[in-house]
Amino acid sequence: MNTNEIYQSLGISSKVLDFCEEVEESLKPRFEQIDHTAEYNQMKVIKAMQDNRVSDVHFAATTGYGYNDLGRDTLEQVYAHLFHTEAALVRPNLISGTHALHVALSGNLRPGDELLSPVGKPYDTLEEVIGIRESSGSLKEYGVSYRQVDLLSDGTFDYEAIGTAIKEKTKLVTIQRSKGYDPRPTFSVEQIGKLISFIKSKKPDVICMVDNCYGEFVETIEPSDVGADMIVGSLIKNPGGGLAPIGGYIAGKKACIERASYRLSAPGLGREVGASLGLNTAFYQGLFLAPTVVASALKGAIFAANVYEKLGFSVVPDSREERFDIIQAITFGNPEGVIAFCQGIQAAAPVDSFVTPEPLDMPGYDAPVIMAAGAFVQGSSIELSADGPIKPPYTVYFQGGLTWHHAKLGIMMSLQKMDDKKLLFW
Ligand SMILES: *Cc1c(COP(=O)(O)O)cnc(C)c1O
Repeated sequence: MNTNEIYQSLGISSKVLDFCEEVEESLKPRFEQIDHTAEYNQMKVIKAMQDNRVSDVHFAATTGYGYNDLGRDTLEQVYAHLFHTEAALVRPNLISGTHALHVALSGNLRPGDELLSPVGKPYDTLEEVIGIRESSGSLKEYGVSYRQVDLLSDGTFDYEAIGTAIKEKTKLVTIQRSKGYDPRPTFSVEQIGKLISFIKSKKPDVICMVDNCYGEFVETIEPSDVGADMIVGSLIKNPGGGLAPIGGYIAGKKACIERASYRLSAPGLGREVGASLGLNTAFYQGLFLAPTVVASALKGAIFAANVYEKLGFSVVPDSREERFDIIQAITFGNPEGVIAFCQGIQAAAPVDSFVTPEPLDMPGYDAPVIMAAGAFVQGSSIELSADGPIKPPYTVYFQGGLTWHHAKLGIMMSLQKMDDKKLLFW
């Protein structure tokens, strides 16, 4: 079988293949640039592991309280080294990105303090953590107030309003790097650095936290390189490299990490406890793979933007824009497009490829949602995944791809499903 035939055996027509190969060819210079970033970040990870003398003793499992978990403690030093921070928590007990963000926030805020978001509305799940949406156990219930400054209409920071929003009681500023699933730009690390400098010039002792989800290893620097006191993320996204089966991280100033650790376990116990239960190997090896996995996901996102833009669809970011996270949005303008796209992503998966996703009403959503996820780890969005609410303008968000070739197949399959349903005008 030649390459053409193996693609045909998977259900890709030569029309789709030829079109996509041409797009891929045109992207060579960009892919090369992404590979350079991956190379730099790969060296950064290896150096952090070497300098901390990572050894196979660190892969041993601990149980119970997890006292003297050498693997866990060394992994945290590796993360701190890599992100140029004083300390880090990297744990399976941080069960998701939302949980890590909650621990970082609630560990560092006290009753009477105010939390400020200078970049508009935060990620959906944080609305309940903060208490923007009424929720039992929210920061609001514990007497922490919240203030928000929206972005200007061109997606930039409203410095004037941010300046006046910083008050005596402003204790912590939360900055979300990725747009998540909102129609606003993702910020570069450089832009975040400028924002932090401005905030610190108004109030030097304010804690600047960055929600780093989907941003790790997209650039050669991280928000902790430009003044962030804490950066927070999920291990079933970029830094877990697809191998971490669970987990989150918080890296930053020692005092911030200590306070977070007392919330994660208990006052008095802090970071000394928390068994790693044999997951350390996956955490180390996933981190080792993360720079090239992120590069694969980025290539997939750029490939999709170019393929769909060429066919007349609106894509964000567009085909040529510089990338600061791994998320790609494509607007189809009709429900059939969203459904066909997601069914294509699912059909290309290594897991559950035989399942046909359908739109479904979900708690917390105001429209039916369709999701494609043929993942080894449930909910992992560093693996190729897509979802879209069935409502105008009928936009699908997709991200991930552990290997570039799988991401490519996923996009081709989505195109194939669209073509089968006569939704494309070539
Ligand atoms: C995914 C994400 C979160 C929440 O992470 P979960 O692991 O899904 O809880 C928070 N913020 C941003 C920007 C994200 O992308």
